[in-house]
Amino acid sequence: MLSRTHDLGAFSSLLIVAAAYPQSHLGLNTIIVASIANIVGSLLPDADQASNRLWDLLPGGNFLGKIFRNLFLSHRTLSHSLLGGYVIYQAVSWLLPQLFNSNFVNSQVIIYSLMIGYISHLALDGLTEEGIPLLFPFPWKFGFPAIRSWRIKTGHWFENWIIFPGFVLFILWLFSVNWPLYKSFL
Ligand SMILES: [Zn+2]
Repeated sequence: MLSRTHDLGAFSSLLIVAAAYPQSHLGLNTIIVASIANIVGSLLPDADQASNRLWDLLPGGNFLGKIFRNLFLSHRTLSHSLLGGYVIYQAVSWLLPQLFNSNFVNSQVIIYSLMIGYISHLALDGLTEEGIPLLFPFPWKFGFPAIRSWRIKTGHWFENWIIFPGFVLFILWLFSVNWPLYKSFL
């Protein structure tokens, strides 16, 4: 999947979870940081790719990207597995409360938002032909539907003309249906 599809998939997932588990009076700070964390989470699994936009956001990103890529081996290995998800969860659970003042931002919400982005990335990649190595270091790749040729080809017409616009419409629909609820988060 392309990173813009992952962004929208992550944000849709965040909106669904927000509607299912409403949190009133989160405050604007937490909502903004949670939205950014959600997008960062959705880009993290592909941070092992040279073209990843995450690295463009950071000064010296190329250098950091190289280190990160070496850590995460080749594309779609550790970063696209349950083990990788666990490592990321532990890392952000430690890091984010250090970064944000708890008087201004609810760290727990930020951590969940980031992980929702991360998990949505794995779910979407599971729909592509390549599948994902969920049980890495075991080499088996998982995907849905089970028959490979029925799955999506990254960057092809189905992703560009059906899935991507589908997410845009879905997000608009979620906002229109849940607007009073989302407004109560402020
Ligand atoms: Zn991926």
